[in-house]
Amino acid sequence: MAEGLLGRLGGKKHAPAKEFAVALSEEGWRRKLSPAQYRVLREHGTERAGTSPLDKEYGEGIYHCAGCGQPLFASDSKFNSGTGWPSFSAPVEHAVETETDRSFFMTRTEVHCSRCGGHLGHVFDDGPQPTGLRYCMNGAALDFQRGEKLPVVREDDSSRTI
Ligand SMILES: [Zn+2]
Repeated sequence: MAEGLLGRLGGKKHAPAKEFAVALSEEGWRRKLSPAQYRVLREHGTERAGTSPLDKEYGEGIYHCAGCGQPLFASDSKFNSGTGWPSFSAPVEHAVETETDRSFFMTRTEVHCSRCGGHLGHVFDDGPQPTGLRYCMNGAALDFQRGEKLPVVREDDSSRTI
């Protein structure tokens, strides 16, 4: 009777097909992650707004995936969205992928790590310029490495010293 509702709230089975470079069994992820990380990354949970210390973190550094360690966001794309979740205007190139999420009777764009498939949060189109995007992330899915910088890759190459 209430099956339809519960089915939707519980989330349909998430598209299984895709293989990620980092793939652990459910048991493996449970061992690797804290319960809060597991709930967000592997079960598409959402932490309560304002509970992550990373929401108010504005130091320089790189935000990595708490599941597999891939660099996801640099501190210079972080901004205060006032939502209570760490928010970014742009990810590191190729670090995240998106899919349509129709749970909770809304259509949102889900964001996950391109390397392990871990759920990170959602992206909305009400962010600051120049991207106009707001990556609304769960702090539990992120691992902040203070002081770290992304390697600079220049297309125009004239200053490359390698
Ligand atoms: Zn990952």
